[in-house]
Amino acid sequence: MPDVPAYTLTRRRMKSVRVRVAPGTGEVLVSASPRVPVRRIEAFLVEKATWIAAQQAHAVTRPAALAPGPEADALRAILRPLLAELLAAWVPVMGVPEPEWRMRVMRTRWGSCNKEARRVNFSVELARRPRRLVEYVVVHELAHLIEANHGPGFVALMDRHLPDWRSRRAELNR
Ligand SMILES: [Zn+2]
Repeated sequence: MPDVPAYTLTRRRMKSVRVRVAPGTGEVLVSASPRVPVRRIEAFLVEKATWIAAQQAHAVTRPAALAPGPEADALRAILRPLLAELLAAWVPVMGVPEPEWRMRVMRTRWGSCNKEARRVNFSVELARRPRRLVEYVVVHELAHLIEANHGPGFVALMDRHLPDWRSRRAELNR
């Protein structure tokens, strides 16, 4: 039987167990419900050992995500006034309530929105992107204050306010 790979465990309220391998470092990150005993978590890791090893081999070839620190702070300093300006312009145009907003180090997304809390988050990595792409993310997240998902209502809002949003999105994700 293979050994249990080294791992970091976070307990959180969830169904059972989730494993991921951090890009860049290859660290094995495990989230598990407080109800799942460690021996079951470790049995699961042993079961997934081949998959974990493959992920780790892949992980080191990818750059690590930006960590919180001086670099992220510098990006925030660039991004803050731009976001403030774009939000001041677009909130009245779109007729959405004034959201609370933050810049965060985000691993996989450019932005996120919590409609109920009226809170919008933007990735600090946007500081490295041209203004028109940042504008697309701003309009996208503000549209989520009206439409929580990406259904037809959301698409209609994007088409009305930013007719070339599809090409901006494609450019952003390239
Ligand atoms: Zn979205």
